[in-house]
Parts: sequence; C-alpha cells; structure tokens
Amino acid sequence: MVNRRTFVTQSALAAGAAALGRTGLAQGPPPAVPIGIQIGAVSFADEGTEKVLDGLREMAGVNTLFVATFTYGRGIAGRQPRGSALPDHGKQEYDDDYRGGNFATPHPELYKKTSIAPEKAPDHPGYDVLADVVPAAHRRRMKVIAWFEDVFRADVPGLDKALEVDVHGKAGLRACLRNPNTREFWLALVEDHLRFNPGLDGLMWGSERQGPLNDALGASHGAGPRPSTAACFCPHCLEAARREGIDARGGATWPWRSGSGA
Ligand SMILES: [Zn+2]
Repeated sequence: MVNRRTFVTQSALAAGAAALGRTGLAQGPPPAVPIGIQIGAVSFADEGTEKVLDGLREMAGVNTLFVATFTYGRGIAGRQPRGSALPDHGKQEYDDDYRGGNFATPHPELYKKTSIAPEKAPDHPGYDVLADVVPAAHRRRMKVIAWFEDVFRADVPGLDKALEVDVHGKAGLRACLRNPNTREFWLALVEDHLRFNPGLDGLMWGSERQGPLNDALGASHGAGPRPSTAACFCPHCLEAARREGIDARGGATWPWRSGSGA
C-alpha cells in the first residue's frame, strides 16, 4: 500500500515529469507506484477520451485509471448530484435520468447461473468504456483497472431472488453476499471483463456496506437505528450459521418474541 507521504511525493515527481515532457506519451519506465484516479464513462463521453487522458497525465501524473465499469450508483459513474456544484469542465448539466449498469458490454451467455440480469448501462448508447479507454490508456502507458461496485437498483430484473432477508423474514434492500445468484453474478462479471478485455490490467471490486450490528445501532449515514432491518436471515445464511453451530432461526430466538425461546 502507498502511504500518504509516499503518495504525495510520487505524485509530485510524476506530475513534474509529465510537465517536462508534454508529448502526451510516456517517457521512460512507468513509476513504481500507481497514481490513480476513479473515473466514469461520462467523463470520456463528455470531453473526449484523448483529451481527458492527456489532462490526467499532465495535470496529476496519473498512471492508473480505475474505470467505473459496473454500478447502478451515481457515486462513481455519474455526474454531480443535485445540490452539488458542477465542475468547470464537462457538460454543465446534471444527470437526473442516470440509470447505470454495465458500462462495458455484457455477454448474456456468461450469466446463465444467476437470476440477476446483465444490463448494459443505457446512459451512453453504443459506448463501451473499456473498449474505448484501454487502448488509448495503454498508448500512454497508463494502466486500466475495472472498478465495479456492489450497488444495484431495486428494479434490476432478477435481483429479487438475490436479496437479503431481514430479521422479520422480509426482503431487504441489498444483495445477500452468500446467495448463489449474487455470487454467480459477480463471477460472471469478472469472467466477462477478463475474457472480452484481455488488455485489462486489473480488477477492483468494491462493497461499501456495513454489517448488521451497525445497521441495528444506526451507526451510518445518520439513518438512525434500524434493528428491524438487520440481515441476513436468508436460507443460505441460516444454513451457514447452522454449519458453524450458531442458532440463528431468524426472529424466533429473540427473547421479546413470546412463545419462542432459544
Ligand atoms: Zn443471506
């Protein structure tokens, strides 16, 4: 890992080197540490791939792109949310109709073992961010990491068969990480990325979520305590608990439930 001091030092060195040689092409061996940036398809669609990559190299010495390839969240793949100022480059507009999905090209034949539909993000019709960016980045000796995250929309077809189950037995909001449909989806996406983008330099999967105890205590995002949403009590998780010798029969073990008892 790169600590902050090393990062700053390397960034300054790389930025200086880039400023000295403004040819748009790398000179000499690439730096030993990645100087990365998270970036979504919208940046390339808005401003042009070549211009964006040159700017990243020259202004920040970036040598590694963490390209948002799959998410239904706006956080890593959309423009600024309403209420935030727009940057001084790119289209001066918000993307209220953002949807997300796979920003490369999903190959449905790989997703036969999962209920979750492999949807191509409709936000940039006809555009495949990896097909576009990987060759352009490699010409500049920049690496491309496919950055995909655990963020779905509730209306993704088949997601209902992968959701967590809360302590009351109701469907939760997130995909259960033990559910076979969830696991097969991520496996398929990884194969999809690697099989059809052989130039990829790496993968980064992100799951920004907290555990059920923090959900119950309300220790996140100011949401307040939500003990009733504690999950996961789906059959796969209950079976896993049983294998570990843990008694986790959904709500049945909680002492305030009359007639139950552990
Ligand atoms: Zn589960």
